[in-house]
Amino acid sequence: MSALQSASGKSHAANPKTYDVVVVGAGFAGMYMLHRLRRLGLSVRVYEQGGDVGGTWYWNRYPGARCDVESMQYSYSFSDELQQEWDWSERYAPQPEILRYANHVADRFKLRPDIALNTRVDRADFDEHANSWSVTTSDGKTVTATYIVLATGCLSNARMPDIKGLSDFKGKVYHTGHWPHERIDFTGRRVGVIGTGSSAIQSVPVIAEQASHLTVFQRTANFSIPARNAALTEQERQAFRAKYPEIRRFAREESRNGIYTEMPDKGALDDGDNERRAKYEQRWSRGGLTFMSVYNNLALDKAANDTAADFVREKIAEIVRDPETARLLRPNNHPIGTKRICIDTDYFATFNRPNVMLVDIKSNPFEEILPNAVRTGGKDYEIDALVLATGFDAMTGSVAKIDIRGRNGQTLNQKWAEGPKTYLGLMSAGFPNLFIITGPGSPSVLSNMIVSIEQHVDWISDCIAFMRDRGLDTMEAKKDAEDNWVAHVNEVAHTTLYPQANSWYMGANIPGKPQIFMPYIGGVGPYRQICNDVAAKGYEGFAMTGAERPRKMAAS
Ligand SMILES: Cc1cc2nc3c(=O)[nH]c(=O)nc-3n(C[C@H](O)[C@H](O)[C@H](O)COP(=O)(O)OP(=O)(O)OC[C@H]3O[C@@H](n4cnc5c(N)ncnc54)[C@H](O)[C@@H]3O)c2cc1C
Repeated sequence: MSALQSASGKSHAANPKTYDVVVVGAGFAGMYMLHRLRRLGLSVRVYEQGGDVGGTWYWNRYPGARCDVESMQYSYSFSDELQQEWDWSERYAPQPEILRYANHVADRFKLRPDIALNTRVDRADFDEHANSWSVTTSDGKTVTATYIVLATGCLSNARMPDIKGLSDFKGKVYHTGHWPHERIDFTGRRVGVIGTGSSAIQSVPVIAEQASHLTVFQRTANFSIPARNAALTEQERQAFRAKYPEIRRFAREESRNGIYTEMPDKGALDDGDNERRAKYEQRWSRGGLTFMSVYNNLALDKAANDTAADFVREKIAEIVRDPETARLLRPNNHPIGTKRICIDTDYFATFNRPNVMLVDIKSNPFEEILPNAVRTGGKDYEIDALVLATGFDAMTGSVAKIDIRGRNGQTLNQKWAEGPKTYLGLMSAGFPNLFIITGPGSPSVLSNMIVSIEQHVDWISDCIAFMRDRGLDTMEAKKDAEDNWVAHVNEVAHTTLYPQANSWYMGANIPGKPQIFMPYIGGVGPYRQICNDVAAKGYEGFAMTGAERPRKMAAS
């Protein structure tokens, strides 16, 4: 279809180039969005700042990187052929395999011709007369689009720590979220890792095997459950595939976190000590994120949560031989699960190696980084290479880096200065025809994200088709619907233990960021139902403008 005869029915001058939809980002969200919109016959341009598709799995190439939702579930469900034909090799696929999968999807569905790589979206301005967005990219070009979809990722804006002397360090510095493409070999090198979140927990055991010495600088100890990763047999894959219709349905409609698992019907304190311990032991042996779904009140009741937290703390004490290191590794400042729970392969046991040392930077904050050492607590720890596993400016970071201007020239950053405001996590009032995939106010990072991505993409596609079929020009969140949703998101969060942790869910890892619980914790299934109901009521809470007249359908 020619962009000049776009599906929106507008006729545009040859310059600037015009699309029905601009999608920002070519991770799992951007790729599936493109696929769905093309099936509607729309003209779409995807911009991706990276050199290839895959998003998270393009950037995070650090040693040990892999998913923590099992691969048979951490995968697209929109194409049965795809899920039947793709062979995951392990229970949790390693990053190179997930990246191969993303590339396979791009090729299989012929997505590449509509994706511009190595191109950042720097700015987007809403033109209130034309009811369209003007999008400026890093190559200096401007295009216009009726809709813009931010598929920019929740964990895509790597956070660089502000430590005195970092730029004077003479060795190599690597951020886990921006890992080089060539293989990094730490053999014979003294390595320092800063941070002990999920990326560190995955990479530390692998780096420790190569490095002559590894120093891990820890501010906050984190809970981690053994992954029990293993190769998948053909039999296991087939058993899963046979059950896919039910597994996917459950994950979408009934689960709280987009994962197929047993739904607990009891609270932790409903069982006696022995029975409870046996259940925790069984989940610990099974491994993985479902440890937290053994009881139904671990996220709600502190006394219940303490039983699980104590169990994990005891396990750490059993594994780690040096009592002082074990003490430091036992998390003690947040309820278990209120920071994204990690899963690991031999993380705690790695601290028994003679070449690994843990340094507590909570009691002894960093003083500075010297050309060949990290100075903390009056001591210098000599290193040749530094790994920053310092996480991301989560959920809002990549959106904030784009200069987005909506009605009356208001910027999204101004509007979100006190914290992100959205209706359903999908749109923000004053920014018509701008959608966000897995935005703040949706289950997003609290879920198996591919389930949440697919739900948003399907909803947005249906919504755009609805507007096109009725000849509507704009859609935007109503202010009161947005205010009510923000209040609801906040209220639900405060019925749980989550806000008790200084987590990146709260923006607490970024100095100066407003501390607001960003994702919607009401559950994937209930949230989907809310979104479906809103759509069924003619997009209740959204204002739509334009004549209800039939529009010429685009020829695909
Ligand atoms: C190490 C790691 C492990 C993870 N493991 C899991 C897991 O097991 N299960 C799970 O559910 N989730 C996991 N996640 C979360 C993961 O981010 C999502 O599962 C999913 O990959 C997100 O896809 P996305 O397309 O929304 O975003 P991303 O994959 O982050 O892609 C967004 C893309 O947008 C691009 N972009 C951003 N801004 C711009 C701009 N202005 N212009 C152009 N391009 C732009 C970025 O370069 C990026 O490529 C993990 C995250 C990390 C970091």
